[in-house]
Amino acid sequence: MSLTVYNTLIRKKVPFTTIESGRVRMYVCGPTVYDHAHIGHAKLYVSMDVILRYLRYTGLDVLYVQNITDVGHLLDSGEDRIMKGARREQTDPMQVVERYMRSYMDDMDALQNIRPDIMPRAAGHVPEQIAAVEQLIKNGNAYEINGSVYFDVSSFPEYGKLSGRKIDELQEGTRLDVSTDKRRPEDFALWKRADPEHIMRWSSPWGEGFPGWHIECTVMASKYLGANFDIHGGGLENVFPHNECEIAQSEALSGKTFANFWLHAGSLTVSGVKMSKSLDNSVTIQNALIDYPAEVIRMFVLSSHYRSPIDYSKEAVNAAYRGWQRLTGPALAVQQALLSTQDSNTPKVDFSSAIKLTRDEFTAAMNDDFNAPKAIACLFDFAKNVNGLLSEYPRPDDTTLQSIDKVYNDLAGTVLGLLPSNSTTYVNHENKLIEILVELRNAARQQKDFATSDSIRDKLATAGVILEDGLSGTTWKTDLSNPSD
Ligand SMILES: [Zn+2]
Repeated sequence: MSLTVYNTLIRKKVPFTTIESGRVRMYVCGPTVYDHAHIGHAKLYVSMDVILRYLRYTGLDVLYVQNITDVGHLLDSGEDRIMKGARREQTDPMQVVERYMRSYMDDMDALQNIRPDIMPRAAGHVPEQIAAVEQLIKNGNAYEINGSVYFDVSSFPEYGKLSGRKIDELQEGTRLDVSTDKRRPEDFALWKRADPEHIMRWSSPWGEGFPGWHIECTVMASKYLGANFDIHGGGLENVFPHNECEIAQSEALSGKTFANFWLHAGSLTVSGVKMSKSLDNSVTIQNALIDYPAEVIRMFVLSSHYRSPIDYSKEAVNAAYRGWQRLTGPALAVQQALLSTQDSNTPKVDFSSAIKLTRDEFTAAMNDDFNAPKAIACLFDFAKNVNGLLSEYPRPDDTTLQSIDKVYNDLAGTVLGLLPSNSTTYVNHENKLIEILVELRNAARQQKDFATSDSIRDKLATAGVILEDGLSGTTWKTDLSNPSD
């Protein structure tokens, strides 16, 4: 059976084909780097990571490009997100970009996401964006008004083909749009004139300004992958307007289909509610990784299909934690058995049919639009079989152990990234040590030995671990922003 994928562009599951034999060119919309990445980013980028990993596992040579948005992504208020970050932290916009780009990379590394091959930045591609806008004006797809340039949506009859929106509906929906200099409310900005106080500005044929958000992905995707490439991925919330506008710009420029396959990951809520600044319910990846090993966060993300929405709650992640332990326990037991030299006289067992079945079912699940939850269910069945084997034969022969170990390494490790890494073990041990110290402090308090209990609390604080005594006991959090010496 070969790989089928759900293509948002045609709203159905179809066989996956590549433009060039054996090679996949893949683009995923990256983050706007003005704050720490949150758990919603973990959902999107772990989903895309597993798609990448599986394509490579099947032998395809994947060139993976993910951009960094560091200019032009405006808030509803019209303020550039990067400038908002700069105002909040009273620093330069490009310093904000560096700070949060590094923070994002640290988070993605911690989550075991494979790094993209190329990570182009929008602010580093302004000349290319200006050239694209000039070409769109020449082609009759764009017009300039008062130093800003807009894409004329009526010039691209296929506008709306990705999101399924009709221009009439768009006119209804955007009537409240306050930008008065556009010809039509559904037209979108390719280039914006910079007001005098706007710091991020470049010279252009239309005066000083900055690029619109959508044009960066058009320009950088085609620069590194060609005008027509295989996969464009992103979050479902970016289908409209961002991805729709990317298609209009790109296809108006080149006359070619932009991306052949559009893959979109579902959104994430926290305890049933959409994350938002006003509700203050945003969970950063850094905070999630204090509570859970990275592989558990991956397990949580992969426990739903990538296109489905997912809800982040303590219960859900704890359930993923138990599942992860159930999955990886036998994998570790096999590794330990391989290391032990005891009793090599065990009769040779035939485990090959269980191995073949697991590999076949796992591949069938992943071939069905990267159905990771189903693939994980195959690994649960396998874990049951391995546990059964180990209880019958504590030390099976090396060949059997090695082939089981390889199943885990290939499927749970290489494809899903769920096998514990050294850093996971380290984080877990560190968390356990903190728990032990908290217990010792509480014991000292109960015995009214406040000198000892205060000393433990203060020493933990100097190490960046803050204890908080509440009605239901003592909790702790790490505060690495203000480490004291
Ligand atoms: Zn994009």
